[in-house]
Amino acid sequence: MTGCLALNASFEPLTILPIKRALRLVIDRKAEILEVDDGRLFRSERRTLPSPSVIRLVRFVHVPRKFRRQVTNTFLFARDGYRCQYCHRHRSDLRGREFLTRDHVVPLSRGGGNGWDNVVTACSACNNRKGSHLPREVGMHPLQVPNEPNHVELVWAVRRITVVQAKYIRMFYGEEVLHALQHGSAVA
Ligand SMILES: [Zn+2]
Repeated sequence: MTGCLALNASFEPLTILPIKRALRLVIDRKAEILEVDDGRLFRSERRTLPSPSVIRLVRFVHVPRKFRRQVTNTFLFARDGYRCQYCHRHRSDLRGREFLTRDHVVPLSRGGGNGWDNVVTACSACNNRKGSHLPREVGMHPLQVPNEPNHVELVWAVRRITVVQAKYIRMFYGEEVLHALQHGSAVA
């Protein structure tokens, strides 16, 4: 099920919210509905409301960079296309007890950080093999140089958005980003 795309007052796409949370913002007059999902109604305690597919916050919310940079495994694996960055195996190629993990390219014990530019997806076998070594010490280099992905690309990667919602992505980020999102290349 798709959720509701929430835009900042500046029209910057922020995230996908559950319909119920989006409606709560509307009822509290913190957001306005820009697009509704035709034919769908949402019944709350006291009233029946159209089901929003795009809302816009009434007041501009400053989204701290730190929040955006937070790395979760869900987003990390999506950024790397669910592929081990060392042996290049996809999640579906893993055997028995193997699983995807977060690897720190420069290990935490060697002064590496936990930001987007130092973490990659690794299968448990590769992560064990690499241990607390630097890539050059063991000849294990990530398939792609890790960097911070576009926030909306990540949202798209883990939750599908509708055609109407895509219109707002295009409005803010342009045709190029939308095209990349729709063809999955941006997060691969
Ligand atoms: Zn691997």
